[in-house]
Amino acid sequence: MKSQLPCPDCRTSISFDVSLLLSGTSFSCPCCALKFSLDPSSKPQLSKAVEGFAELKRLDNEAKHASTNVMRG
Ligand SMILES: [Zn+2]
Repeated sequence: MKSQLPCPDCRTSISFDVSLLLSGTSFSCPCCALKFSLDPSSKPQLSKAVEGFAELKRLDNEAKHASTNVMRG
C-alpha cells in the first residue's frame, strides 16, 4: 500500500509503502536524502491504523466499483 508523508526536513512529499515500512524497510527523501524508518515502539499503533486504512480503502473501492457499474448501465 503506497502512502506519502512530508519530509520533516525539507517538506518534500516522500512516497513509501506502508507494508514495507512495517516490515522494517527504511525510506529516504528524494530531495535531501533524509532517511526514515519505523520506530519499533509505534509499530503496534501503526499496524492498527493500516488495518483500518485498508478496510476503508476496500469499502471505497467497492463504492467506486458500484458507481462504475451504474454508469455503464
Ligand atoms: Zn527531505
